[in-house]
Amino acid sequence: MSTIYLDYNATTPVDSRVLAAMTPFFSDRYGNPSSRDHAHGWAAAEALEQSREAVAECAGAKPHEIVFTSGATEALNVCIKGLVGHQRAGRARIIVSATEHRAVLAPCEQLARAGGLDSHIVPVDRLGNIDLNQLKAALSSTKAMLVAIMAANNDLGTIYPVNDISQIVHAAGALLLCDMTQSVGKIPMDVHAAGIDVAAFSAHKIYGPKGVGALFVRDAEPRIKLEPLIAGGGQERGLRGGTLNLPGIVAFAEACRIAREELHRETERVSRLRNRLEQTILAEVRDTWVNGDPVRRIPNTSNIGFKGVDARTLIRDMHDIAVSTQAACSSGSTGPSHVLKAIGLTDDEAYSCIRFSLGRFTTDEEIDYTINKVIASVHKLRRMKIHRVSV
Ligand SMILES: *Cc1c(COP(=O)(O)O)cnc(C)c1O
Repeated sequence: MSTIYLDYNATTPVDSRVLAAMTPFFSDRYGNPSSRDHAHGWAAAEALEQSREAVAECAGAKPHEIVFTSGATEALNVCIKGLVGHQRAGRARIIVSATEHRAVLAPCEQLARAGGLDSHIVPVDRLGNIDLNQLKAALSSTKAMLVAIMAANNDLGTIYPVNDISQIVHAAGALLLCDMTQSVGKIPMDVHAAGIDVAAFSAHKIYGPKGVGALFVRDAEPRIKLEPLIAGGGQERGLRGGTLNLPGIVAFAEACRIAREELHRETERVSRLRNRLEQTILAEVRDTWVNGDPVRRIPNTSNIGFKGVDARTLIRDMHDIAVSTQAACSSGSTGPSHVLKAIGLTDDEAYSCIRFSLGRFTTDEEIDYTINKVIASVHKLRRMKIHRVSV
């Protein structure tokens, strides 16, 4: 058996239907959507606007509220850095939850280092949930411009109560930025119903290609003004310069259409596989626990701790199963996952956790194989007393 892929929160394979939809845009339909003077350009512009509709629909947005970017990281950076350019006097604080992705935390740190901005982190509890009273307190002590809270966490799967959060944020006169990268395509999302002001999501987490994503900017009064990170030929209403990645955008749209169409059936199927994996491991292996909220959780994610076992040794021992210890995007850092630390795990506990993230192509057979392999490997490592050497 080739490698079993259970790291869908890091990236997903491109769905063959998505690949089929995008392929003509590399060859026959190569026009630049910004070319105004010939049919190649017009056809490309039409494909672009149809794609914008499909991507918007997936998030409950209006088409003109969507700006195409190179991915969620870029969209999050624009929201954080581009709003600051327009910050209102006295609102120099950004509030983020402790479990935000590095794509949110790093630009905040960058701005704080540059000075003039205070970036405040709201703690989470053992399940990864935000204490809304702490959020209120952080909002009342200093005037905040922006609050960044994700719709669902990539490491734990915990879903945040974005509706409640947006009410608190708006009551304090701030804007809500929502990283929806792990929720779009996994749970129904409606940016307007949820009261989200700006948001980001990405194609490659929902069976589209890498290098394309979306920025959502709510069109309402008072208007949200963003400064572009990349200035150029005025594409995307001046918010993102550069020739549009039309093959990627067409693919993103197709990925969104499929995700919407199959969401309920996939949720059913994937959560059944995830629950079987989790429940069997917990029943068969002593001293194990699940991180994250067991109920309010995206259907594909299970983060399991194995007491006294070094997760990296365990992953090496299960060499034909692709899982991870933490977000791929944090893999440059050496310490334990900031998300696992934020929920209160000790370093040793955090180094004992593995994230299993399932997806569209995960099968029953793969889950059977994984369950057996995890049980055998953990028992073997514990028998051999291969514990992590404390750092
Ligand atoms: C993957 C991911 C990102 C980064 O998305 P890119 O499109 O790869 O830049 C941001 N936030 C979360 C929660 C993610 O899972």
